[in-house]
Amino acid sequence: QDVVNKIAAGEIIVAPEHALKELIENAVDAGSTSLEVVIKEGGLKLLQITDNGHGIDATSFADITQKEDLSILCERFTTSKLKAFEDLSSIGTYGFRGEALASISHIAHLSVTTRTKESSCAWRAQYSDGKLVSPKPGQSAEPKPIAGRGGTQITVEDLFYNVPSRRRAFRSASEEYAKILDMVARYAVHCAGVSFSCKKHGSSTADISVPTAAGTLDRIRQIHKATVANELVTLNAENGRWGFKCEGWISNANYSAKRTTLLLFINHRSVESSVIKKAIEQTYATFLPKCGRPFVYLSLDIEPTRVDVNVHPTKREVHFLNEDEVIAIICDEIRNSLSKVDT
Ligand code: ADP
Ligand code: MG
Repeated sequence: QDVVNKIAAGEIIVAPEHALKELIENAVDAGSTSLEVVIKEGGLKLLQITDNGHGIDATSFADITQKEDLSILCERFTTSKLKAFEDLSSIGTYGFRGEALASISHIAHLSVTTRTKESSCAWRAQYSDGKLVSPKPGQSAEPKPIAGRGGTQITVEDLFYNVPSRRRAFRSASEEYAKILDMVARYAVHCAGVSFSCKKHGSSTADISVPTAAGTLDRIRQIHKATVANELVTLNAENGRWGFKCEGWISNANYSAKRTTLLLFINHRSVESSVIKKAIEQTYATFLPKCGRPFVYLSLDIEPTRVDVNVHPTKREVHFLNEDEVIAIICDEIRNSLSKVDT
């Protein structure tokens, strides 16, 4: 059973950035306005994320104390986000259903410190293979009360320590760190109202630092090249069907790059879609043929039931119903926004 769990976990979490993505989404889901990430060795040695969200809330789990809540936290399918079975058909968060923390605990040392508003102290617990474990030999595995601020800190150490083949596949910590920075940067652009920082362990300077107050354009300016903000136009479209909404910032004729930058969010989750990317590139190639590759930040809202939640976790590509039509609308809106400005 443990081997099965380990394999399953390794398929969900393929690289440090995937673990981090799950942790960022959890922190954002918890209503955090501040999110701090600390990384050692590209996330393979240490991946730590501290938020100021609502903490792990006992009342979201039926009739159990916070302590017990923490004891089941890393069991599969423990999720406070699905209140009823029917929720499964309209789940707003896709990919995982209470599997992220469980998965991580099968392939890394995981510890959690959390405090809710109602609690008089923080609680700390450590997990391995989905179960509570004691931090030191001879000590109890029970969660311990400790001093701490409101919010949650998740510490993931020695990722893939028990999956040597996976571990060996990572050639360079700096490559993994670059991917981590890219993931943090995506959410830092998207989550207006949330401050983000990301730094290497022991470093006094952050590699990404965005204050809470920064608006979307400011976020893009701080994270991407400083001039990009002068080369963007806004896109804002709503379509009566499917709860479809599309917002974002896209490059105009003044912008030119060798590679496309696509920051794509669907229902507030960062996703990959090679079909959307290709369609956008084609739109630019015909509309602004002299411009090279575009910069596109798009946030789409679409009825969760129309987004495929059943894709295999290793497939990072998202799919939805009426995909061709949705893509056509997006490309129309891009042409629309571009033709409104002097290009
Ligand atoms: P899911 O996000 O699909 O519910 P996870 O394994 O990612 O599954 O998390 C399990 C549960 O742990 C969440 O539903 C949430 O209740 C709680 N949780 C995890 N991270 C946090 C956090 N940073 N703040 C508050 N609660 C959290
Ligand atoms: Mg989650």
